[in-house]
Amino acid sequence: MIHIREYKTENGQTFTTKKGVSFTKVRWTKFRGQIDEIDSKVELLKRNQHVDYSHHIGAKYYVTISTGIKCVNFRRYFMPKNSGKKRPTRSGIALRLEEWETLVSKIDDLHRQLPELSVASPCYNSLDHLNQTGYLNCRECSSFSTEFGIQFNV
Ligand SMILES: [Zn+2]
Repeated sequence: MIHIREYKTENGQTFTTKKGVSFTKVRWTKFRGQIDEIDSKVELLKRNQHVDYSHHIGAKYYVTISTGIKCVNFRRYFMPKNSGKKRPTRSGIALRLEEWETLVSKIDDLHRQLPELSVASPCYNSLDHLNQTGYLNCRECSSFSTEFGIQFNV
């Protein structure tokens, strides 16, 4: 697991807060494949251009960037009952653009320290994802299917 966390210093003591996001290996590979895309959106954001980006990184986690908010958001979503639209929860972290750049600059270092991360293959490349059932049954790929299965009215 890789954790991106917010730290707080109080009375000279530094401790981790609950604010943050955790990546499984699979989620990390999905995220890593999107870094260039996110970077290009960040560039647009800096130039005050329109951005409305949302990418699924696994399970109920999404990375989003929207015009007007100078942040890269990592957030868990939930599906409210009786609504087909996912909503953000309070669980997650909003990285300021300079924090995002720090994160990107540290990725090569991280991969040097944890080589298994750089060779990990995303689950969607595995054989059981070739059919739709396998894909839909994957907790990483199908964010809401496990808890909110398809319902039929007979
Ligand atoms: Zn999967």
